[in-house]
Amino acid sequence: MVHLFHKTYGKKKNNMKLVDTHCHLTFEPMFDRLRPVLDRARKANVDRVIVPSYDLDSWKQMEHVAGFEGVFCAYGLHPWVADQPLSPTDLERALDRDKVVAIGEIGLDYKIPGYDRRRQMEVLRTQLDVAVERSLPVILHCRGAFDDLLDVLASYNGNVTGVLHAFSRGPQLALRFTDLGLYLGFGGAITRPGAIRCHESAGVVPLGSIVLETDAPSIGLYGVEPTDVEPKHVLDIAESLASARDTDMVDVARITTRNAEKIFGL
Ligand SMILES: [Zn+2]
Repeated sequence: MVHLFHKTYGKKKNNMKLVDTHCHLTFEPMFDRLRPVLDRARKANVDRVIVPSYDLDSWKQMEHVAGFEGVFCAYGLHPWVADQPLSPTDLERALDRDKVVAIGEIGLDYKIPGYDRRRQMEVLRTQLDVAVERSLPVILHCRGAFDDLLDVLASYNGNVTGVLHAFSRGPQLALRFTDLGLYLGFGGAITRPGAIRCHESAGVVPLGSIVLETDAPSIGLYGVEPTDVEPKHVLDIAESLASARDTDMVDVARITTRNAEKIFGL
């Protein structure tokens, strides 16, 4: 990827605002150094970060990260830990906390060894029910289960809104989700020159259906190890997306940020 950003957008850059719509600030190595991580993000024009929870333990750390300016939270149970006891009452109580903007991350993952499809679906449905009841958007994770996820979303008759995060698949699948009114989160994959399908999707999906994310510290960028990824890297992701769409990076920033503000009510 050719990095033209600093030459071409030097001046306009100052007015740009970006949002990292998916970053696990509760995970190490970021959790221990939140202040410098968020300072570096701000210097890269990333002034807001949405932190999805993972397991029930991560719920405890969420209040700490929510104490930082520009940090917003999502509560939910990830499909990898769907065997943990999820009580809708506990979820409701967590959602009453400050700076909660979504339920997440939740979803289906049939690629993990020993998964229990039925339990994953049950936990997903429980959380989607709460999302609809409270009119909250969801942050969705999906691997190897796209047909089932599309089916369950369709069964809510358009009442589920939110983001399918870490999207790296082809245009056909992309449009099945955006047709349902879902947004797609593009992240590190788009920075890889070999990610052809992902680049194709980025070129086809309307910019009005795209948000940006790092998923730090889980997914690397081209030339950056996953554990070195921070919210500041949204700037590189925006640049790669602009290049894949052959469009102006300032427009990518403006529209994806507006999308994030609209979905999450930021
Ligand atoms: Zn994640």
